[in-house]
Amino acid sequence: MKKVEVEAHAKINLSLDVIGKREDGYHEVRMIMQQISLKDIIQIEEYGKDTIIETKEKKIPTDSTNLAYRAWDILSKRFNIGRGVKIKIEKNIPIAAGLAGGSADAAAVLKGLNELWNLNLKEDELMDIGLEIGADVPYCIMGGTALAEGIGEKLTRLKSFKDKLVLIAKPPIQVSTAYVYKNLKLEDIKEHPDIDNLIKNIELDNVNFVAKNMINVLETVTINKYPIIQKIKEHMMRFNALGSLMSGSGPTVFGIFDNTDDIIKCKEELETWVDRVHIVKTI
Ligand code: ATP
Repeated sequence: MKKVEVEAHAKINLSLDVIGKREDGYHEVRMIMQQISLKDIIQIEEYGKDTIIETKEKKIPTDSTNLAYRAWDILSKRFNIGRGVKIKIEKNIPIAAGLAGGSADAAAVLKGLNELWNLNLKEDELMDIGLEIGADVPYCIMGGTALAEGIGEKLTRLKSFKDKLVLIAKPPIQVSTAYVYKNLKLEDIKEHPDIDNLIKNIELDNVNFVAKNMINVLETVTINKYPIIQKIKEHMMRFNALGSLMSGSGPTVFGIFDNTDDIIKCKEELETWVDRVHIVKTI
């Protein structure tokens, strides 16, 4: 039986700006997406007519609402495949964390099925299909470093910002992205990131400048509700992070470091009061 294995990498936002609200209620964003080495592993094998999801992670659904299932459903209907698969998800990316774990799984399933079924779809065709699942899925297919505009689906690839040392810390709370956007008051945002200047410095590989000038406007909402996020940020700065920011709508906080000793010490201390802490690299 044919079987494929695909990696589903998490993302962080090196900055996130909201520049307006559209008539349909969606927010227009400008954000810098960066893939990290933290990943789920997805195995897909042929499995009769039905599709099943297998995972040890109890916090994600195994029915048709799992984004991995939706990816299979959309692709098999589009190409009239009429075959089921078994999708095994080894979940390492924290859930509802601002790391796009669900979107990454969906992207990996699209890529894996493209291979399993010999569809020969190009990356941009897979990205178009991915957009039907969610705004972050096209980026998860593209990967690397990218500027995302519109509702997150208009992507421009940026020069790679790989191999930076990053500490990820997710406090024991789950944040709903819908709640954060619903409570965002554009007129209250005092500081916006200078995305164009950040892009210039990404091109120069100026990690110091990028880390020190990162801004995520969604922090205004999420930190207000969960002060622990601010506490983690301050903690990372005390351990000499070059910069620290909340990812996406939160609650995960990341810090960019340039010293291995500092990042290890910071991790050890954070682990005593934060449930998930990982040292990763940008890829
Ligand atoms: P984003 O940064 O795009 O907002 P997130 O990291 O905050 O994403 P996810 O981990 O993608 O959030 O999960 C959001 C919700 O989607 C969860 O409530 C979860 O139950 C559901 N979900 C469905 N399929 C998956 C999956 N394969 N992995 C994780 N969550 C999934």
